[in-house]
Amino acid sequence: MEGLNFIDGQWRAGEVPFETWNPSDIDEKVGTYSRASASDVEEAMAAARRAQPGWRAFNMQARADLLRKAGDLLIARAKEIGTLLSREEGKTLPEGIGETIRAGQCFHYYAGLVVAAKGEWFDSMRDGHNVLVTREPVGVVAAITPWNFPIALPAWKVAAALAYGNTVVLKPASYVPGCAVMLARILEEAGLPAGVFNLVMGSGSTAGDIMIDAADALSFTGGTETGRQVLLRAAQTMTKCQLELGGKNALVVLDDADMDLAVAIASNGAWIQTGQRCTGTERFVVQAGVYDQFVERMADAANAYRIGHALDADTQIGPVVNGRQFNENLQFVRDAQGEGAELVAGGGEVECRTRGYYMAPTLLAGTSNKMTCNRHESFGPIAAVIKVDDVEEAIAVANDCDFALSAGIATTSLKHAEQFRRASNAGMTMVNAPTAGLEYHVPLGGRSPSGYGSRETGTAAGEFFTEIKTSYINHGVI
Ligand code: NAD
Repeated sequence: MEGLNFIDGQWRAGEVPFETWNPSDIDEKVGTYSRASASDVEEAMAAARRAQPGWRAFNMQARADLLRKAGDLLIARAKEIGTLLSREEGKTLPEGIGETIRAGQCFHYYAGLVVAAKGEWFDSMRDGHNVLVTREPVGVVAAITPWNFPIALPAWKVAAALAYGNTVVLKPASYVPGCAVMLARILEEAGLPAGVFNLVMGSGSTAGDIMIDAADALSFTGGTETGRQVLLRAAQTMTKCQLELGGKNALVVLDDADMDLAVAIASNGAWIQTGQRCTGTERFVVQAGVYDQFVERMADAANAYRIGHALDADTQIGPVVNGRQFNENLQFVRDAQGEGAELVAGGGEVECRTRGYYMAPTLLAGTSNKMTCNRHESFGPIAAVIKVDDVEEAIAVANDCDFALSAGIATTSLKHAEQFRRASNAGMTMVNAPTAGLEYHVPLGGRSPSGYGSRETGTAAGEFFTEIKTSYINHGVI
């Protein structure tokens, strides 16, 4: 895979090439890309600014058709893009293909919303007047994305931004730029006018500052600390911000839970996609009556997963994304043991047919919610179990967290499920379902500090990607 920056409808080399490597086979190079210089990023922002009036005025049906075509092309190329995704990020091939199809579906969904745009008409308090409330594009959008959903995440930001009449500059994470290059090729092929979508690759801080300063709005997904820096920068220019950040998501398991279901959703939430989901479960808050059984069954579930090369047909869990994250994960486990956590499954490296960053699904038991391993996001296949006495304590522990993204409960009691749903401070709650696994037609996001600004996806995206205009009209007719 070779990929350049896409600026004003042209493929352009930046200042320096960089490479990506396969986490399933660390000696295999996947792609060579080109890091955009500061002036490249400035030009991309300027191109988006020039293209904005034309795109805003672009025929509504033609805009919808174009987004639909981009969705069609993504789905038609799901195997090719999914394979690249698996090689670059380490997700299994079905996960890579599934994510690409989901990206295509996002484009289809927002294509439909283009023709659903509506305003409101009010009678006026003044005779002979009326009031119109309409929505307009916010303008030039900077989209900055993390490595863990390399095609779906850029897609749901870009599709929504374009649907509401904005132009976009996308900067993907440098570990996984391949899918963003594929998306740019598809948008070019679909016939998007020059400058409406631009892609720049490179360092977050250099490109990020330029993008934030020149944009009308920033849609950012990444770590909470990066989000804080980005927000400080955006404050200087008062750039509108939507931040989707980290999580430390809890799943409560009550004594009355269906244990087969509880173990299934708990292991899915913690370990599928190598635990590299912002909504993945990192804390299990388990009632005393089922604690021992839960720990034992979860350890068995962890040990039963087949870890391996992302492209091998029998692999259930692929590698960790890169060496840095891999070492951080192993250190996280050692630190947890150092503060008294009991390692009941995984915790270390797994040997596979190729040399990769393979880590065993890991379960820590006997932890308390005060321990560091339950306070900091690990962002790997690592989860810890905390014992509690009753539903009230479970809710308090689940909420006692510096993040508020997703939280779930396993219970057969409707009363407890509803009690938890109402009391949870997370932006998304799950009843008898994994904390991860989101749908594109409803709002996505967490409360601060897991999120900031209006939500993504669904029609909620329209709140961020548009501005309200209130118009008072004196028509003189009483
Ligand atoms: P990261 O914060 O390191 O990087 C995210 C993006 O920001 C990258 O493109 C990076 O280049 C860029 N960046 C870095 N410094 C910047 C700066 N100063 N200014 C502007 N941009 C900058 O995150 P990551 O390691 O790529 O992703 C993992 C994190 O993302 C985890 O914390 C995870 O929870 C979070 N995440 C959240 C959601 C959500 O919806 N809430 C979804 C996916 C991932």
